[in-house]
Amino acid sequence: MHSFAYKNGALHCEGVNLQDIAAAVGTPTFVYSKKTILDDLEEFRQALAPLDAHIAYAVKACSNKAILHLMAQRGVGFDIVSGGELWRIVNAGGDPTLCTYAGVAKTEAEIRYALELGIYCFNCESENELREINRIAGEMGVKAPVAVRVNPNVDAHTHKYITTGTNENKFGVDISRIEALYATIAAEMPHLHIKGLQMHIGSQLTDKQPFVTAIEKVAPIVAKFKELYGIEFWSIGGGIGIVYDGCLASGSEEWWAEHPEQITIRSYAESIIPLLRPLGLKILIEPGRRLVGNAAAMLTTCVYEKKGEAKTFKMIDAGMNDIIRPALYEGYHEIWPVQQHSGDSIVADIVGPICESGDFQAQNRLVADVKPGEVLAEMSAGAYGFSMASTYNSRPLAAEVLVDGDKWHLIRRRQTMEQIVEGELLPGEA
Ligand SMILES: *Cc1c(COP(=O)(O)O)cnc(C)c1O
Repeated sequence: MHSFAYKNGALHCEGVNLQDIAAAVGTPTFVYSKKTILDDLEEFRQALAPLDAHIAYAVKACSNKAILHLMAQRGVGFDIVSGGELWRIVNAGGDPTLCTYAGVAKTEAEIRYALELGIYCFNCESENELREINRIAGEMGVKAPVAVRVNPNVDAHTHKYITTGTNENKFGVDISRIEALYATIAAEMPHLHIKGLQMHIGSQLTDKQPFVTAIEKVAPIVAKFKELYGIEFWSIGGGIGIVYDGCLASGSEEWWAEHPEQITIRSYAESIIPLLRPLGLKILIEPGRRLVGNAAAMLTTCVYEKKGEAKTFKMIDAGMNDIIRPALYEGYHEIWPVQQHSGDSIVADIVGPICESGDFQAQNRLVADVKPGEVLAEMSAGAYGFSMASTYNSRPLAAEVLVDGDKWHLIRRRQTMEQIVEGELLPGEA
């Protein structure tokens, strides 16, 4: 459960009035709740206690150094998808030997870097990648720990851009071919150590059934691989969904009692533990969104309003460069005024400054009738929010703040224009 709520008419994160942060840091600014992240980590720990389970936080969801540091201090491992993310882990004080490395197109330089740092395992996505890692490990005189991502061909019933576990997707190796591939590794790739098996069927799953179906489908193969190759782990991926529509209300116990259908860490764990426990293996789980998504809001200021023939628009100072989810895959974010309104809601589009029609944060939405100058909070902004931000339209990257009780800390300065153009050169200047 997150820690955003109105208190005395002002939206707070834990003990901090969001208006104070906006006044001090400006907008747009991402505000993260330390308590929410730590509570959810603890809930994972407790819910998965019957298993030998380990969390590998999916760094791409939110990769700020302070957030990674927070997790590293709690002994969390990391699921990374690039050499850059591995660099971030080291930079944030994380342990590279707790890192699993996913991704379909790892380069030679990235593979060498990961081998030098001694990561826990490469989660590989094709035979050619395995052959490349085998070659590089051979050159370096080391044995590379590998698992292969199996694609179980289970539909996760999520948006098509974030479904990954069907045979239409670029990810993983078809379940029909996985056994032959492991045999090939064992026979032909002497510089690889077969350490586990991996899968990840998609993101923002709000139903437990696809997880259960995929685990049921793959478990017999895992048991066989334990027998044949002595694998030590099965990574079942991430993908656990969070609350977008209903986010603010879901900060209360009552909301959860009224929404028993909503996936929780506990209900997810309860549905998979009986299937996993008999395997007697280390289980890795790779939540990204579930650990940080509801733990942040993005503060933005209303700049103008415009009433057209067909629509009312509220223009804000945050754009699709700050949060791309609505434009990229129809992501939904609740938007609340930081100073509470009463009874003046209107239907409006909340749009950003970017010169693209796709630059909206909400369409045809019943929202408070906010006026220019008012600060708004875009909820559920912690995952795939800042980490997907860009400087499109020469807009500096937003600031980030971590709230801890009634204190807050700047964890990323707002980018400057000088920083944006830092690497640019006129011909001959290099
Ligand atoms: C993105 C990703 C995750 C995390 O997904 P969430 O939906 O954020 O939990 C986990 N594993 C892999 C391999 C991923 O690519």
